Amino acid sequence: MTKPRNTGVALLSRREAIGRVAGAGLGIVSVLHATEDAGAAGRQSSAAPATSRSAPMSIPSWNTELKQLAPNVYAYTQGGGPGVPSSAISNGACIVGPDHWMAIDAFAAPPHTKAFLAAANKAAGKPCGRLVNTHHHADHTTGNCFFLPAEIVASEFCRQAVIKGGISDLRGRPESWKVGANELKLAPPVTTIDDHSRVTYYYGDTEVQLIPNNPAHTWGDVMVYLPQYKILWAGDIAFHYVAPAGQSAYISKWIEAIDRINKMDVDVIVPGHGPISTKKDLALMREYLETAKREARRRYDAGMSAGKAAAEIERAMSKFDSWVDPAANRIVPNVVRLYAEFNGTIAPDLPNEATRKANEDYKAAKSAGSR
Ligand SMILES: [Zn+2]
Repeated sequence: MTKPRNTGVALLSRREAIGRVAGAGLGIVSVLHATEDAGAAGRQSSAAPATSRSAPMSIPSWNTELKQLAPNVYAYTQGGGPGVPSSAISNGACIVGPDHWMAIDAFAAPPHTKAFLAAANKAAGKPCGRLVNTHHHADHTTGNCFFLPAEIVASEFCRQAVIKGGISDLRGRPESWKVGANELKLAPPVTTIDDHSRVTYYYGDTEVQLIPNNPAHTWGDVMVYLPQYKILWAGDIAFHYVAPAGQSAYISKWIEAIDRINKMDVDVIVPGHGPISTKKDLALMREYLETAKREARRRYDAGMSAGKAAAEIERAMSKFDSWVDPAANRIVPNVVRLYAEFNGTIAPDLPNEATRKANEDYKAAKSAGSR
């Protein structure tokens, strides 16, 4: 489980790792090329000023699959792509050790979680002994109970928020998501790590680092880093080609968290949402957040309401219209959070009254604009 590091084992470079993986017919090279192309498309259109309407960038499609990234290391992605609604469709991982495997994140719906467990159990050939929650949101923790009796590990903030949130009732989700909902029970993290220290596990020869990086998407984000293979599970600090959901975020600090990732030795990023990709794709998400912040600041300083600002900013960010769960679903809470930063009321919980008012103003501004 937590064996001392075997320093006699040669570390694989990314190229070697990809070569070995490709040899097994499970290469990630095509994934990287696909997203690099999409990133190039996005960068070309970034020349236009943010206030003019630019054409949406083209984005890749990705599959629901367990993909081997390195020996004993797998990413589980849930599929998405152009025009595919994927709110609460998140990604996971399976890292295999001598006597059990470690999971990263449980999902929103029982059928999604069970599909991930079945695929990973089959690949690992042994039970799951540990689950890491990257943060508390329901799309990463609702399925926790299906991993028991595995140890569940997260930040202390995540543990408290999971307990406070209770069992998800999957309200508003498709009926197909609710199959097995009667089996759900509350399963909060039982081991917590503090905000300033990292934890390292050894899964055989694989070094697995848990790295807190918050506040960012929430006040309790934890990433998982495999230094030998330069692979990072960023949790929801990374949304690739999916509009970032900032309802619990501190967006300026989130940008700083992205900059910390950029300083790390990372070749492959598995985001909380979207396809497996690289720092190039993360740069696009950083641009999304920076643009939203800059546009929101101008309107805040001019005394505009958050909702009206969101309607205008949405037009200014048309480049990102092609992203899954487009701006309309996400821009209002993102601007509400930015306004809370600007007026000094930012806190871990979403200010519900401010969001309700902003949604009203947003709808009024949209209908006035379409007349
Ligand atoms: Zn998420």
